[in-house]
Amino acid sequence: MVKNKISKIFHKKGISQPETTSKSSAKKIQSKRSKLPSTKKFVAGILEGNITFLSRAITLIESTNLKHQEKANTILEQCLPYANNSVRIGITGVPGVGKSTFIEAFGKQLTGEGKKVAVLAIDPTSSVHKGSILGDKTRMEGLVSDKNAFIRPSPSGTSLGGVAQKTRESIILCEAAGFDTIIIETVGVGQSETMVHSMVDFFLLLKIAGAGDELQGIKRGIIEMADAIVINKSDGDNIKNTKIAKVEFNRALHLYPIKNSGWQPKVVTASALENTGIKAVYDMIEEYILLVKKNKFFTHNRNNQNTYWLTSTIQQHLYDSFFKNKNMSTILQKEIKFLKKGQTTPFTSAKKLLKSYNDKT
Ligand code: GDP
Repeated sequence: MVKNKISKIFHKKGISQPETTSKSSAKKIQSKRSKLPSTKKFVAGILEGNITFLSRAITLIESTNLKHQEKANTILEQCLPYANNSVRIGITGVPGVGKSTFIEAFGKQLTGEGKKVAVLAIDPTSSVHKGSILGDKTRMEGLVSDKNAFIRPSPSGTSLGGVAQKTRESIILCEAAGFDTIIIETVGVGQSETMVHSMVDFFLLLKIAGAGDELQGIKRGIIEMADAIVINKSDGDNIKNTKIAKVEFNRALHLYPIKNSGWQPKVVTASALENTGIKAVYDMIEEYILLVKKNKFFTHNRNNQNTYWLTSTIQQHLYDSFFKNKNMSTILQKEIKFLKKGQTTPFTSAKKLLKSYNDKT
C-alpha cells in the first residue's frame, strides 16, 4: 500500500516554474556583472565609504590577472591622498586563544565609541590549507552585521609575502573608505607576526594563562614586539590564574629596555566572552596613540615602515627576477657543479652570475 502511494507521488508530473528572467535579460545582467566599473567610479565609491566598491577593489588587489592589478594600482594611487588617517592595530595569538571572540568584543567597543573598524587577516597557513582564519565569518557574527565594521578574510593560496603586500594595499583602501581603526589579525605562528608588526602602530599579543609556566615556549622576539599583552579568558575559575600570569608577564616585560616609542608595554586581563577588560584595552591604546603622536614617534614609525616596505619590495622583485630567470638558473646549476668539484668559490661564482645577470638585463 505504502509503496504504491509513494510511487504515485513520484509519477506525478510537476508544473514547470514560470520563467522569472528571460534569457536575454539574464545575459544582460551577467555582462553587467562581469564588466568592471571605471576607475573613477571605483575611487568615488570607495571615498563615499561604499563597502561593495571597497570589497571589489580589494578583490582586484588580490587578483593575479595583470589587467586587474594595473587597475588596482591606479585606484590605489588615487586613494592614497585620502589614506593614512587611522590607527592600525595588530592582534596575534595562537589558535584558540580567543582572537575572533576578542576582535568581536573589541570591534563592538570601537563602533560603540563611534569608530569605523576594518578587520583584515594575515594567515600564514592559508597557502598550505587554502583556508583562512577569518574564512568563517560567523565567528564574528555581531561585527559582521555592524554597518560600521568591515571584515575581510585573508586571501588564500598566496605566499606570506604576497599576502602581506596585499594587506598593506588593502589598508590604504580601507582608510580611504573612512575606516579610522584597522585591525590586522594573524595567527601567532611562523613569520607572520613580524610582518604584521611592521605594518601597524600598536601590536597586541593575546595570551591565556597556563599553569604558571607562562614564559615557556613563548618566543622572545614576540614579547619584544608587543606593546601590550592581553591575557584573555579571565573569567570563572580562571580569574586567579590570569592574575598570576599578569604578574609574570609584567616582570618579563620590565626586563626589556624602554621602547623607542617611549611606551612601557602593559599587561591587561580580559574576558572577550564576558566583555570585561575590553574597555581597558581601548583606553590603553588611546593613551598610547596620544603619547606617540605627541612625541612624534607615530609618524617616525610609519615613515620607517614605508621605507622598509619599499626596500623589501625591491628585494623581493630582484630575487624573483634573478631566480625565476631560466638562463640564470642554468648557469647557477653549472656553477654549483663547479663548486662541488672545488673548481670555484661561492664568491667567484656569485660575481660571475651577477655579472651575467647585469649584462643581460
Ligand atoms: P581564535 O582561534 O584565537 O580566533 O579563538 P576563538 O575566538 O575562536 O576562541 C576559541 C574558543 O575560546 C572558543 O570556544 C571561544 O568561545 C573561547 N573563548 C574565547 N574568548 C574567551 C573568553 O574570554 N573566556 C572563555 N571562557 N572562553 C573564551
